[in-house]
Amino acid sequence: MTSEKYSGERIRQEFIEFFSEHRHTFVPSSPLVPGGDQTLLFTNAGMVQFKDVFLGTDKRPYTRAANSQKCMRVAGKHNDLEDVGQDNTHHTFFEMLGNWSFGDYYKKEAITWAWQLLTEVWSLPRENLWATCFKDEKGEIPSDEEAANEWKSQPGFNPAHVMYFGRKDNFWEMAELGPCGPCSEVHFDRGLKYCDMKQIPGHTCQVNGDCKRFLELWNLVFIQYNRLSPTVLEPLPAKHVDTGMGLERIVSVLQDTDSNYKTDLLFPLLRATQVLTQHNDVEMEINLTPYRVIADHTRAATFLIADGVVPGNVGRNYICRMIIRRASRFGTNIGLHDPFLATIAEKVIETYGGFYPELLKNRAAILSNLTREEERFTQTVESGVAKLENLLVKLQIGDKKILPGEQSFDLYATYGLPLEITRDISRERGMEVDETGFREAMEKHRLASGAGEAFGSQGGEDAEFYKDLLADLEMGRQLGQEGVQYNPYEWIEVQGTVLAMVSQGETIIEAKPGDWVEVLIPRTGFYVESGGQVADNGVILGDHGETWEIHITDVRKPVAGAIIHIGQVVHGHPKTGEPAIARVDHQRRMDIMRNHTATHLLHAELREVLGDHARQAGSLVASTHLRFDFTHPQAVTPRQLEAIEASVNKRILGNYDLTIQYKPLQQAISDGATALFGEKYGETVRNITIGEPEIFSNELCGGTHVNSTGDIGLFLITSEGSAAAGIRRIEAVTGTAAYELVQKRFKILKRSSNLLETSPEDLPSRAEQILDELAEVRKTITELRRSQARVIFHEKIGETKLIHDVAVMAAEIPGADSDILRLFTDQFRQRYPTGVIVLATVNSDGKPSLIAAISEDLVNRGFNAGELVKHVAALLGGGGGGRPTIAQAGGKDASNLVEALASVSVWVSEHLNK
Ligand code: ATP
Ligand code: MG
Repeated sequence: MTSEKYSGERIRQEFIEFFSEHRHTFVPSSPLVPGGDQTLLFTNAGMVQFKDVFLGTDKRPYTRAANSQKCMRVAGKHNDLEDVGQDNTHHTFFEMLGNWSFGDYYKKEAITWAWQLLTEVWSLPRENLWATCFKDEKGEIPSDEEAANEWKSQPGFNPAHVMYFGRKDNFWEMAELGPCGPCSEVHFDRGLKYCDMKQIPGHTCQVNGDCKRFLELWNLVFIQYNRLSPTVLEPLPAKHVDTGMGLERIVSVLQDTDSNYKTDLLFPLLRATQVLTQHNDVEMEINLTPYRVIADHTRAATFLIADGVVPGNVGRNYICRMIIRRASRFGTNIGLHDPFLATIAEKVIETYGGFYPELLKNRAAILSNLTREEERFTQTVESGVAKLENLLVKLQIGDKKILPGEQSFDLYATYGLPLEITRDISRERGMEVDETGFREAMEKHRLASGAGEAFGSQGGEDAEFYKDLLADLEMGRQLGQEGVQYNPYEWIEVQGTVLAMVSQGETIIEAKPGDWVEVLIPRTGFYVESGGQVADNGVILGDHGETWEIHITDVRKPVAGAIIHIGQVVHGHPKTGEPAIARVDHQRRMDIMRNHTATHLLHAELREVLGDHARQAGSLVASTHLRFDFTHPQAVTPRQLEAIEASVNKRILGNYDLTIQYKPLQQAISDGATALFGEKYGETVRNITIGEPEIFSNELCGGTHVNSTGDIGLFLITSEGSAAAGIRRIEAVTGTAAYELVQKRFKILKRSSNLLETSPEDLPSRAEQILDELAEVRKTITELRRSQARVIFHEKIGETKLIHDVAVMAAEIPGADSDILRLFTDQFRQRYPTGVIVLATVNSDGKPSLIAAISEDLVNRGFNAGELVKHVAALLGGGGGGRPTIAQAGGKDASNLVEALASVSVWVSEHLNK
């Protein structure tokens, strides 16, 4: 064992340097939100950002890479949540060190280098290292003798330490079909003291066994096959290496700690928690699970928020919410009742900010999101937990062991108790939750609330069809290997032959007026929807005079290389093979470009005015307007909105040219470009900057833009509101739409000032004056009505009847309001100390209101105004209630009012006889 202690930071760096020395390019971690991949919730391994390289659809300028990738394993195929807090080696968030060969070196180098790094650079004892290799239990795929022999030939490797395992442990597949291959894992023997099953009779410690003695450190995957079907593998022409080593695990081995949590990567978080609880070390040890969960979940949430994932109700945001709430609850279990996660997150930022600068950049957003989410949770958690405990007791009484999914969902929807917490609490009571039922209930709710689209499928069913079509066209040399040429930046109108027309999934030779078709031509300037910018509209025309015309209303890219124009034939008979002109609707496109450039200006001003935390969370660039979602905890004030609008217009009037450059992603980022999370970038990016000499907007963007900001014309914000928890939405218009809006507003202004017989400038004071007058008039009317009501009341009080000793009055008082009716009941009670009164009035909407009052002594004799008013209101199709002495009600229909009032005497008589 190495005696020298390495810091986690240094170990990470040494890994990268070791492979850099072997000509690997360092590639920074991609965000936790995988770019362009809707099927995957979070990046869960180093290979995610290289997936397309293995599939052959993406190329990189290097063939060897090394990285430390941020990973989350908390959902989907890789979900380690249930181990977190229970063991010392699994986290929700962790770092995966990796070295990569894309058709470059293979098993020999990968194994040799792994061995050198572990035993020479890091001096791990050779006798403690084991390697697993693949042997197919079905005997269909060849055993990986190549890897086994490489291990055995390493200096000091004990040949008896090679072990073979089958498909589950040692064969890696990306998906059901596609690249795959055997893998070889390095395990470390931590010694007998780590065995936690010594007491179990018959137990032997072994690699991939049941106890904690052997620890999996590193997985070396050799991608050598392409799976064509469940039974057919074909060798790949280019073979790849993909390796992954958990940083926390190797650090715990090198620092000789018995737990990842005791390494300098995580222990500071435990200590920070301990400062808050004021536990001594023994108390901390007793409560290790809460300590571990808090450290793990806070670290994960910190990284998630830095990558733009804020707490919310669906998908990624739900996970963020769930882990924060779970950490908060475990905090409660060890006596932390006030929000405390921000304190722990400070430590995370301190520990990791050097290597992951996004943490420093988003510090404010991280801390405020954590605290706000804890506050939201504590507001509801107590009632939620109480409700859950009631439910569990009921189930226990009924001898049931499963909490129904509907109920656990209800706890989430109503009290914000995530399923995972409901499960924790249920398990503490020996019960389980029906998780399938929970998901069904959630799905139902999600669809009902319209959030279903967020993670919907991406269509793609026609991809196969277009792949074949492209291959045919390529064979016939009608299209080059790159497929359709695409240049929405320069081409507004192009000429070309109609290569294919597709209708209802089949190619057709000729179309007729009214038909909907998908048209393929060799080149196009029609923009395909992306980055929030909508697709272009336009026309495709026959190029022999205007013989035919198709109105294009959508453009799509079903598969790389194919761009299809979707539209309806308006006249003529377009045919495959005919010359055509494809013309983008220029006016509409200009409007879109104005909105797109304005979006960049808006984004820059939001950060300027609100702060750096205000980051893009979604965007729509249409021809009619733009919509921009961004992270910000509260409503933008009218003042801030005004400032933002004014600055954007100032930038427009400055008429700055846009600079568009293609450059390597890393360079663009270091030049200060804002990359968006969830957006996929290639190696080379398009970088759009505005401002001279000082750049004030710097974005990576594939959209189409105006030449200079003056082209935008005018920018007006039309609305500001909430889009989701922690996310605000601004809508705005520019150019044509802004002009139309101003014009419309001017007309309204003119019409209003004509109506009020004043000038637009004097409109506000005129309106105020009229409102004052109106208030005066209303007051007078109320006075008049009341004095009229008073007259009527005094007339009718004279008709009060005595039933035994009880004075009973039931009358309609036209024109009265509820305040004055209440006053009348007081007057009645003063005159008749033992009495019952019901007064009614019919409101301007034709519906009756009622008030009933009963004197104290009658209440003591069992009378109740609430019951009485309900009884009368029922006859009017309504309901109400109140105190025993006074109650109010409303009805729906006044036509029964006379009968209803007459029923009061009957009610009193009946009650006297009881
Ligand atoms: P295990 O069987 O221990 O869960 P795995 O087979 O799921 O590991 P891989 O998918 O091969 O692991 O990931 C590569 C490496 O990443 C592992 O060898 C391990 O060092 C590390 N690793 C995997 N999952 C986690 C986790 N949840 N927390 C920390 N490190 C992990
Ligand atoms: Mg695992």
